[in-house]
Amino acid sequence: MRTTVVVIGAGQAGLAMSWWLARRGIDHVVLERGEVANTWRTQRWDSLTLLTPNWQSRLPGYAYRGDDADGYRSMPQTIAFLESYARYVASPLRTGTAVTRVRRHDAGYEVVTDQGTWQSRAVVLATGAFNVPVVPKIAEAIPADIVQVTTGRYRNPGELPDGGVLVVGAAASGAQIADEIHRSGRPVTLAVGEHVRAPRVYRGRDIQWWMDASGLNDERYDQIEDIARARSLPSFQLAGYSDRRNVDLNSLAAIGVKLVGRLAGISEGKAQFSGSLRNVCELADLKMNRLLHTLDEWALAHGRDRELGPAERFEATQVDESPTLVQDFERADIRSIVWATGFRPDYSWLEVPVLDRKGNIRHDGGVVQVSPGLYVLGLPFLRRRKSTLIDGVGDDAQEISAHIGAWLGSRTDSHATATADA
Ligand SMILES: Cc1cc2nc3c(=O)[nH]c(=O)nc-3n(C[C@H](O)[C@H](O)[C@H](O)COP(=O)(O)OP(=O)(O)OC[C@H]3O[C@@H](n4cnc5c(N)ncnc54)[C@H](O)[C@@H]3O)c2cc1C
Repeated sequence: MRTTVVVIGAGQAGLAMSWWLARRGIDHVVLERGEVANTWRTQRWDSLTLLTPNWQSRLPGYAYRGDDADGYRSMPQTIAFLESYARYVASPLRTGTAVTRVRRHDAGYEVVTDQGTWQSRAVVLATGAFNVPVVPKIAEAIPADIVQVTTGRYRNPGELPDGGVLVVGAAASGAQIADEIHRSGRPVTLAVGEHVRAPRVYRGRDIQWWMDASGLNDERYDQIEDIARARSLPSFQLAGYSDRRNVDLNSLAAIGVKLVGRLAGISEGKAQFSGSLRNVCELADLKMNRLLHTLDEWALAHGRDRELGPAERFEATQVDESPTLVQDFERADIRSIVWATGFRPDYSWLEVPVLDRKGNIRHDGGVVQVSPGLYVLGLPFLRRRKSTLIDGVGDDAQEISAHIGAWLGSRTDSHATATADA
């Protein structure tokens, strides 16, 4: 089978790319191993709601039309939203088609799937940034009778054994899951490493309103001093609850969650926690205050100050004088562990030598220059701060599809009638 561009993945990134390719008249197919929105169907817990308000789920040609623009979608609503976008885009979609190998072939690529082989001029990897859980090696030393799950497998507290739970990682997922499990009656210990604190609502507006209006979400990858670091930062410690409450370390400590430092080691049935808890919390407070200061300055400079509530500063994170450094799993009755330690992409099927020694794709804003015709979409800070957000992938897809169009157009043997009108 032949086409001009193969797009792999039918999450928001693959669908947004399909919309732009169609707009440019570029022949393509979208291959998806599961169904549309497969990751939202298979790797999210039951109570999860989006961190981004409904108005912020903007995709190319598509915006929120309901009457709850400031609400946060549940998972079934998110899946329904992406399904309806797929119908709107009318992508040339092949679901139930897993890509098992991509390699260079003649002047383009060969994409092998469990439903046959495609040949194309270009390939877009829209397979997601969060495929494989990153669990530290020390997990191997966890006593065998302790149940371990990652956030991609966790569904609800009822699936965990009774007794205490250690949640490792305090970004959005870890904080929300710790909150939910503790409220279910299972005492939670939360191991806290570097995290990014942000209030849900600031001066009467959702923090995502500020990130959008101030242009911070639009900051570009080529204007950031340390892009490698920006790409590795954890998500905001936030939740999309209908009461808009903060889920931060203070709110968790207030309901009884025990805060400890980063999980540093496991030895003889005991967990060892880093002594850096106070430092990482102070750093997170400092950075949050810096962000709020930047937002205040933006409001003042853009004449928005008077329509907003007064500037606020939040209570510093309260940390025990001497947090626990060693905890015996048995004595503390810890029966399960939830690893909320992040994910990495899976390129195990990619046979084009474009990965660095850490397994990341070498790319310049999604263009894999060392292998012309290969592109990637949906990675953290790919072209903008918002690149992994539903709201962010459209702008990236527009620019990358323009690059694809120009690249195809510059080749005499192109099948495409592309225009680079980004
Ligand atoms: C817990 C969590 C909460 C999030 N909350 C928000 C939020 O509130 N708001 C927001 O804007 N963003 C949120 N995000 C970030 C982002 O929107 C999601 O990660 C989203 O799923 C990314 O979309 P994507 O299309 O890039 O990748 P995915 O949704 O992962 O889509 C990739 C697709 O590729 C398919 N695929 C992978 N490998 C193959 C293969 N070999 N062959 C064929 N198909 C393949 C997968 O089945 C999948 O359908 C959240 C992320 C996580 C992890």
